[in-house]
Amino acid sequence: MRIPLLAGNWKMYKTVTEAVEFVRRLKEALSGVRGVEVAVCPPFTALYAVARELAGGNIALGAQNMYWVEEGAYTGEVSPVMLKEIGCRYVILGHSERRQYFGENDENVNAKVKAALKHGLVPIVCVGERLEEREAGQTEEVIAGQVRRSLAGLSGAELAGLVVAYEPVWAIGTGRTALPEDAQQVNAFIRRLLAEMGGREAARQVRIQYGGSVKPENAAELLGQPDIDGALVGGASLKVDSFAGIVRAAVRG
Ligand code: PEP
Repeated sequence: MRIPLLAGNWKMYKTVTEAVEFVRRLKEALSGVRGVEVAVCPPFTALYAVARELAGGNIALGAQNMYWVEEGAYTGEVSPVMLKEIGCRYVILGHSERRQYFGENDENVNAKVKAALKHGLVPIVCVGERLEEREAGQTEEVIAGQVRRSLAGLSGAELAGLVVAYEPVWAIGTGRTALPEDAQQVNAFIRRLLAEMGGREAARQVRIQYGGSVKPENAAELLGQPDIDGALVGGASLKVDSFAGIVRAAVRG
């Protein structure tokens, strides 16, 4: 059985003080919640302090990006070794904002995925079509290209252990959510692709999230779909009540 993963992508929000205070309150709000996995992905500056606050509990820590090299003269970059040492379990890779504003592409993402796996981090690999691609009927073609290139060269076991986040670009931060049946259709398509790439067992195990304007009000219906194994949550993960509401919806879903 796949345990749903609810991951909060805080983007470039929260100072260290705000981040630590937030997770203190989140721990209280989620005490007693079982059957789902929860992760928060703060900005790099807050990771270490948040790791200390989360130590010994069951909320996991993730980073929002990393470089694929272990160390070296790469000003401004952070390596998988560094993230692992401070207690990160997850790393978001290929988020559409990284692709749009920082020139990331599937080949970069593939190098990052391989480096993350090598260092024991679980990649959350983001894929998703733009509005004009959806309207042109190209969703499956776009997603297939992103999945095949971003996850090229991985074994079935490696595919089984990672997380894919289907995030239609037009739904991120816009308040526009995919219809549950449309999100389900794309997630099921991704699972079929992964079966071709890594075998049926890998496809059965891999967790495929949905992301894009998930809120407490729409979470239960999205998370109740058979191929949606949790959510990557941006805006609504910045408030304890709304993030906790989404986590509780996953427990019911
Ligand atoms: C995201 O940043 O991955 C995301 C899904 O954002 P939002 O929930 O704000 O749409």
